[in-house]
Amino acid sequence: MRIGIDLGGTKIEGLVLDRDGKERARLRVATPAGTYEDTVAAIVDLVAELETRAGVRCSVGIGHPGAISPVTGLIKNANSTRLNGQPLRADLERRLGREVRLQNDANCLAVSEASDGAAAGCSIVFGVILGTGVGGGVVIDGKPLTGAQAIAGEWGHNPLPHPRDDERPGLRCYCGRTGCIETWLSGPRLQDEFHRRTGRTLRATEVAEAALAGDAQAAEQMEIYCDRLARALSVVINIIDPHAIVLGGGLSRMSLPYDRVPELWKKYVFSEPDLIVTRLLPPRFGDSSGVRGAAWLWPAD
Ligand SMILES: [Zn+2]
Repeated sequence: MRIGIDLGGTKIEGLVLDRDGKERARLRVATPAGTYEDTVAAIVDLVAELETRAGVRCSVGIGHPGAISPVTGLIKNANSTRLNGQPLRADLERRLGREVRLQNDANCLAVSEASDGAAAGCSIVFGVILGTGVGGGVVIDGKPLTGAQAIAGEWGHNPLPHPRDDERPGLRCYCGRTGCIETWLSGPRLQDEFHRRTGRTLRATEVAEAALAGDAQAAEQMEIYCDRLARALSVVINIIDPHAIVLGGGLSRMSLPYDRVPELWKKYVFSEPDLIVTRLLPPRFGDSSGVRGAAWLWPAD
């Protein structure tokens, strides 16, 4: 059986999947507020408890923010910054006494949805995290694409394509550059921009709900948001030509983009507009997609 762990900024979730992909046990603990060592200990304890419940020794896959540098073997690019520079793989393998597979959390989302989720049967899948941050991962024939820098799919820190005059130069990003896709498409940005334009305070998903309910200001905001998402995804489509794009993260609960964005990306994708077959899909497993994908990093046997 396979254990998957999703290491998040606020919680660590773990589950056991059996050979058929059925869930056999699930546990969730708060991410320790203390040191890196506390986080490692919490993961080790969670694996032990899940194995007790499963009754057998399991494979272990971990989804985490950021990436493991192929050069140093250390975590980098994690928004949970206490992980950066740490030998997480080596520490877990030593403590657990086995090989452990680790992957970026967006890659885990894409693996899960490509394996038995919304994009099952699709050869090329792009998984997108739209939330506090914006990330992405590429899965080809069920396997995550890691790459030379272990950053394949990290579209959130590319610039917004086809910027309009009022979108230049864009906001400063924590990565040091300006106008990154993340600064346009994150939940906080959607909320802030709606507030600046209307004076109203709604969360990102509430703006989307208001638009569907006929609120003209919210509808205008969502049209701008969907157009930016279409522009940003059109570049991904031009490069990897995915069969499916699956959204994850908190903003994947917005229903409007699934219909509107594929209409809008016809203007930007390098293909006959009416013959684009790439599908934009909600995640079948919702918030659990990441933890399932971590388990799927190992084969069923
Ligand atoms: Zn950036």
